[in-house]
Amino acid sequence: MPALARRMSRAKPSAFMAVAEKAKALKAVGRDIISFSIGVPNFLPGEHVYAAAREALAKDSGQYGSNRGADALIDAFLGHIEALGLTGYTRANCSTGIGAKHILYNLAEALLDEGDVIAFPTPYWTTYVDIADICNAKALTLPCPAEQNYKLLPAQLDAALAEHKPKVFLFNNPSNPTGMVYTREEIAALAEVLVKHPDTWIITDDIYNTMIFDGLGYHNFVHVKPELRDRVIFVDSLSKTYGMPGWRVGFMAGPEVVAKAHTTLNSNHITNIPEVTTAAAIAALSGPQDVPRDRTREFQDKRDQVLTVLNSVPGLKCPRPQGAFYVFPDISFAFGKSHKGTKISNDVDLCNALLDAKGVACVPGSAFGEPNALRISYTCPTAQLSDGINRIKDFLLELS
Ligand code: PMP
Repeated sequence: MPALARRMSRAKPSAFMAVAEKAKALKAVGRDIISFSIGVPNFLPGEHVYAAAREALAKDSGQYGSNRGADALIDAFLGHIEALGLTGYTRANCSTGIGAKHILYNLAEALLDEGDVIAFPTPYWTTYVDIADICNAKALTLPCPAEQNYKLLPAQLDAALAEHKPKVFLFNNPSNPTGMVYTREEIAALAEVLVKHPDTWIITDDIYNTMIFDGLGYHNFVHVKPELRDRVIFVDSLSKTYGMPGWRVGFMAGPEVVAKAHTTLNSNHITNIPEVTTAAAIAALSGPQDVPRDRTREFQDKRDQVLTVLNSVPGLKCPRPQGAFYVFPDISFAFGKSHKGTKISNDVDLCNALLDAKGVACVPGSAFGEPNALRISYTCPTAQLSDGINRIKDFLLELS
C-alpha cells in the first residue's frame, strides 16, 4: 500500500476523547456516570435562531456562497464585535469559517511556514499543539502554573518573544481549560510587551468573550493598544457563547491581508458556509441576546457551586475562574496517595480511578499541557453537578 503523507505521522486525533470514550462505554453497561469531560455549553439557542434557519431552508437558493461569508453575516459579526469594543473594522477585515477550529487551522496555514515558532501559554487548548504539529511549526509553550493563577506574566512573554522571535503568539481569553480571565490591567501589561516585538502576529482566540463573570468585562490587546491592530487577529465562534457547537460557525477580524488570505484558503477548502447556517448565525448575533446572557449568569452560579465544594478539600488548590465553564483544580497533592488500594501517581491515574470508583469523568490536565490538574466542565444540570462534584470531593477525601 502506498504511504500516507509525512504530515500524517504528526497528526493525532484529539487527546481527551479517551476519557469520554471510557465514560461512554461504562454508561453503555449501565453504570451511573456523570460526565464533566466534554466542553459543550449544554443549552440550545433561542427559537428565533431556528425560525431563521427554517425560513432560509424554505427559500434556499442552493447556490454557492461567498468565500468570505455572506455580507449580512459579516455585518452581524461586525455589530457583535462593536458591542465588545472592537470598532472600526470593515467587511474587508473579516472572514468566516466552519467553527473557530477551522479558523485557527486556516490562520496557521496562512501565517506559519514549516519550522516557524508559534508561542502560547500552558495550560493550552489541546488543538493548538495538534495544528502546529500538522503545519510542522514549532510549538513554544509558556508555562503558567496554578501558582501564577494560570496566567501569563509580562516578563515571561517578553523573554520568550525576545529569545525565540515567534512568528505567532496565540492567546486565549477566557481560557479553556482554566476559565481564567485577564483583567484590563493584565491585558495592558501584556500589550505593552507586544508592542516591543513588531515581527510577531498575535492571535486572540477569545471565543468565550461574552461568558465572563463578576462584572470583569472582556478586554483585548487592541482596546488598550490600538497600534496593535495591524497584527492582532481576533477569533470568535458561536459554539460556546450561543450554544451552537454543532452549527459550526467561526469568525476572524484582523488586518485585511490576513482576512484575504483566510478567504483564499476558504475558496480552496470549504467554498462557503451554507445558507441555512448563515441565516441561523445572523439571527443569533443580531437577535435577542437573552439566552446567552441568562446562561452566562447560570454558569457563574455553577462556578460558585463547584468552587465551594472543591475549596473544602484540604490540599486542593483551585484558582478562581471568572469565565467560560471550566474549573481547573491543581490536584497534585493526591500524587503518591492511593484510593482504596489504587495507586495515584499522576493526573491520568486520578481521572481513571475517579471514573472507576465514583463514575465521574474529568479530563486529565496533561491533555492541556498541565499534568498537575484536571479539567471539570460544569455545564450539566444543577442537581447532577452537585452530585458529581460531591463525588469528586468524597473521592479526594478517601485518599490515603
Ligand atoms: N478555541 C477554544 C479555546 C476552544 O475551547 C474551542 C472549542 N473547544 C475552540 C477554539 C473551537 O471552537 P469551535 O471550532 O467549535 O468554534
